[in-house]
Amino acid sequence: MEMAKNDALQLKELEEFARKAEQEGKGHAAKLFRAGAASKTARIHGYLRKLKRVKDTNTNCKLLIKEAQKNEKLLIKMTNIASTDNDKISERLFRYSVEVEKTFAIMLSGSLEYTDNQTNKDFFVCKVCGHIATGSLPDKCPVCKVKKQAFTPTL
Ligand SMILES: [Zn+2]
Repeated sequence: MEMAKNDALQLKELEEFARKAEQEGKGHAAKLFRAGAASKTARIHGYLRKLKRVKDTNTNCKLLIKEAQKNEKLLIKMTNIASTDNDKISERLFRYSVEVEKTFAIMLSGSLEYTDNQTNKDFFVCKVCGHIATGSLPDKCPVCKVKKQAFTPTL
């Protein structure tokens, strides 16, 4: 599982590297980084199949709720450490993440009650803090206060 988590982190890093290379006009490097990201994705899917982590949706929701709650507790500790260290940037990042994890766990709990026939809400994700809004787009992010232009819809 640690290898899968490490690959998942590197996957996101490769996506960011590709975005940066694109901004710098280095299309070949961007393509290579995206190829590396696709390769990591294939490996991560392989790990998930081997670990048999993907179950039915209710079981997956319950697993994610537990993980969100565990992450929330860890992030609270990290917020306190950053505060003690007077590391304002990390403190803010962790504080935002606590709120995001809390909201996600609540949404997951609610989703256990519905099927697609009962609800089909849209979700919007804040690019700054990761907050997930549902239903309609908020005027500003309730967590980091950025304007609604920072939200992207999910399909
Ligand atoms: Zn936000």
